[in-house]
Amino acid sequence: MKSSMTLDDEIRYLKGVGPARAQRFAALSIYTVRDLLEHYPFRVDDYSKLRPIDQVVPGEDVTITGRVLGVSSIHTTRGPAVRVEISDGTGVLYLVFYHMPYIAASFKRGSIVMASGKAAWRRGSMEIAHPVWQVVSGKTVEIRKGPVLPVYHLTQGLTSSAVRQVVRTALEKYGSLLKSILPEDIRHKHQLMPEPDAVYQIHFPESVEAWQAARRTLAFREMLLFQMALLLMKQGLEENGAGPRFASFARAQEFLSRLPFSLTKAQERVIGEISRDLSQGRAMNRLLQGDVGSGKTVVAAYCLVAAAENGFQGAFLVPTEVLAQQHYRNLKRLLDGTATVEILTGSTKPKERSAILERLESGEVSILLGTHALLEPGVRWRNLGLVVTDEQHRFGVRQRLVLQEKAQDGHDHRLIPHVLVMSATPIPRSLALTLYGDLDISVIDELPPGRKRVKTVALHPSERRRAYDEVRRRVARGEQAYVVCPVIEEGESGRVSAVETWEDLRKGYLRGLSVGLVHGGLPSHQKESVMKEFVAGKVQVLVSTTVIEVGVDVPNATVMVIEDADAFGLATLHQLRGRVGRGSEESICFLVASPRSKRAYERLRVMCSTYDGLKLAEMDLAERGPGQFFGTRQHGLPDINVTDLGIDLDLMAQAREEAAALVERLSGDVSGMADLLAEVKRKYGHVVLAGRSR
Ligand code: ADP
Ligand code: MG
Repeated sequence: MKSSMTLDDEIRYLKGVGPARAQRFAALSIYTVRDLLEHYPFRVDDYSKLRPIDQVVPGEDVTITGRVLGVSSIHTTRGPAVRVEISDGTGVLYLVFYHMPYIAASFKRGSIVMASGKAAWRRGSMEIAHPVWQVVSGKTVEIRKGPVLPVYHLTQGLTSSAVRQVVRTALEKYGSLLKSILPEDIRHKHQLMPEPDAVYQIHFPESVEAWQAARRTLAFREMLLFQMALLLMKQGLEENGAGPRFASFARAQEFLSRLPFSLTKAQERVIGEISRDLSQGRAMNRLLQGDVGSGKTVVAAYCLVAAAENGFQGAFLVPTEVLAQQHYRNLKRLLDGTATVEILTGSTKPKERSAILERLESGEVSILLGTHALLEPGVRWRNLGLVVTDEQHRFGVRQRLVLQEKAQDGHDHRLIPHVLVMSATPIPRSLALTLYGDLDISVIDELPPGRKRVKTVALHPSERRRAYDEVRRRVARGEQAYVVCPVIEEGESGRVSAVETWEDLRKGYLRGLSVGLVHGGLPSHQKESVMKEFVAGKVQVLVSTTVIEVGVDVPNATVMVIEDADAFGLATLHQLRGRVGRGSEESICFLVASPRSKRAYERLRVMCSTYDGLKLAEMDLAERGPGQFFGTRQHGLPDINVTDLGIDLDLMAQAREEAAALVERLSGDVSGMADLLAEVKRKYGHVVLAGRSR
């Protein structure tokens, strides 16, 4: 064993991980042993009711294991089905999957699978229809009490059993490096496992209960580290938060006076609050909340102009390429030469990129707007004084820190830039403290005048025609429409897809209209050109996935059809619906769905009668838990790895309390806390501890 082994070693050097497999893990952002061990399973399947096949009784819930003898396609009264023959030496049983022809490829002859479900006697044999199943490793069929098997988020070409196998290898080799960093007293008080045990139990649980206890331990730990980081950062800012002092706001005011509308009272109030922050010589750290369409962008622009006016650079971080392009066009037009604006995204050509970066470093560019590309190491600022983040819920705390930290790179002055984060997803109060405990909050609680509520109507798929008749009627009047689908292409999900819908509509209900398609899978120049045509009115109907969810602004669009609406969360539906109703015309949103449960039906009903974003967010929180409010949904991988830990509000509150007590303790005796502090630092960077003498 090499002594230099660390959890940061790359997994591609692990036994059983070749370059091809490493690439698949990379698609899940898993590069190191640590990434791998922190890729927690989101569910476990309980196979502990294992039964030899000859003892399976119809009508019972059972688990069996056996070798795949063959796979065939059959025709049944319910349509085509795939039938998989399994034997464990005591008997033969069939797994049956209706309407899932592609699943045949998942079963290889000779491989060993484990399956659970309700047994039934059909077609003269024992069958389990639509079982929960997994391929298990091993060469022989062992009939013993089945394990509790974890299920992981996967990518093409990876199975849960492959992940498990690699995790096992990693734990064998690196397990001894896992540390307990939580203080003993806290561990006992909250009945947590020693952390190394928790890591083992979450991947290889002895029982469902052990798995749950492991999750609870790891969730608590993540939350504690996160809360400590927030509190330390806040403390650091308070002690040492010298920020750029913006002394002059003349140009920024002039910018406001050039707008074609006057500000709402709420916008004015918020601009007042922010200006006070900016002029005090202490770093601002503020969250701006406001429902979709409340006009947050002009507030951001005001701040950016103020930064430029005072000789500082401003960063404007946005979650998507489409939104970046839109903001760029608007800013350029609004600023009209008062400040140099550039845009940097993943699709910026290398030559152009290096030219922009050069001008950024020299200070020639005063406002740089862009996507995650702004966070890359090569991006160096001359004097970054303000960071604005749009649609904060799409980013994590870490990104905010990265930019704040960047500002300090290679400069002798130690000014901490002002930070303004904006969000249209109202965060329920109980959560705001936890997620944004370090921020001051401003709220725009008023929509610009003349806005009408977006009338919302739920339709069964058989009534879909009504929605598209309305689309036709409105397009005939010169207005535009959105059609939103949950997935890009039809796959295993069985959800309505954007690509198929687009094809159907062009040939069917919407024949003769100009129908465009945009989704996250398209190259960005293509996305951009479709969006441009939609903005210009050349594309009359835009079919899309949720890429349009955030920020896109086309006031002429007055009707939206959301297909398979019950696939979306309430907060997302509310955001989507906010894309229409931006002009003076009365707008309408159709939710097309055949809800699969009473709850789902109830949710749609609520959407049709509730227009309060905060209320909807609270319902989402109650229903789906806080996990979804963390980190980036875009990449599926959250900044704080708790989404899959099923964390609840109570545990979050407890962790926050303990974090506060620990931070308090830091001013005195810190013995026994070195590992804990090192972990906070590793995860959240040294900004957290900036200004602390250690
Ligand atoms: P959001 O808060 O969702 O980001 P935007 O900033 O995109 O909202 O603003 C939505 C639309 O409202 C834009 O077209 C913007 O120009 C317009 N707008 C913003 N403020 C006002 C105002 N005070 N009066 C009228 N229109 C406004
Ligand atoms: Mg916006």
